[in-house]
Amino acid sequence: MTATPAVIGRFAPSPTGAMHMGNARTALLAWLHSRAAGGRHLLRFEDLDVGRVREWACDATRRDLEWLGLDWDEESLQSRHIERYAAAAAQLDTYGCTCTRREIQQVIQDSAGAPHGEEPIYPGTCRLRPVSAIRTPALRWHVPDWTVCISDALGGSALCQNLRTEVGDFVLRRGDGVFAYHLAVVVDDAASGVTDVVRGKDLLPATPRQAALQRALGLPTPRYLHVPLMTGFRGERLAKRGGAPPLMALREAGEPPGRVLSALAASLGWPVPGEVSASELLPLWQSFVTTAQT
Ligand code: GLU
Repeated sequence: MTATPAVIGRFAPSPTGAMHMGNARTALLAWLHSRAAGGRHLLRFEDLDVGRVREWACDATRRDLEWLGLDWDEESLQSRHIERYAAAAAQLDTYGCTCTRREIQQVIQDSAGAPHGEEPIYPGTCRLRPVSAIRTPALRWHVPDWTVCISDALGGSALCQNLRTEVGDFVLRRGDGVFAYHLAVVVDDAASGVTDVVRGKDLLPATPRQAALQRALGLPTPRYLHVPLMTGFRGERLAKRGGAPPLMALREAGEPPGRVLSALAASLGWPVPGEVSASELLPLWQSFVTTAQT
């Protein structure tokens, strides 16, 4: 008899500042998903963008999570795994690119097929021309002509993108040497055996290109659950003037964590008392997932 593989989930914050209620809600939902399945839960700091990382933010995030009772089984920092990303990039068909943003924009504007999406699609300018010696090149993936579809386990919607026409050759390593989020996230989720990714809905449009990287690198595609973003949170339950302060401010002001959890759950429309513990929310997550799937 083969055992069903256990769920391995993760919360992967970028330590660029204080955690706010929106991050906390994603952290809570990711935790609920891992724990409701009796699975492992990982904490991964996505700290590759050195210019944006704040040193104190990892520690503040750990404390905020502990304070809310959102524990984790293992922690990792992306900055310790640079060699993994380099090895993965070396397996792909890539080319150096020294085009500036302005040059790319110009080519797009000059071409008949101007983009209709929100994000400009890189027109492949550097693919055919030698890189300039003046700047260190970024590394772009010469994307295959694949249409990649992913389905979201929350809500069940499928999203398909053609890499050539809807995504374009995207950057795997920036000119300043920083490996791109899309590559790092795919390599790390696979290295940690992540089976379930719970994250904000803003990342849904990026998921097909991550699935494409998984396919090209021979890595498994996890289950994705993109949770709604928290917009316009007024935080009535926290009885503070002018909306929700950062989590650490609430923590330091002696706010009971159960009230914060209650406010987070209430913002999803969950029926909760004024104070709850994280584990008391486990059954509500299960019904949230079930409702979203029907
Ligand atoms: N580090 C990303 C963020 O904080 C999340 C990445 C992910 O969950 O895939 O928005």
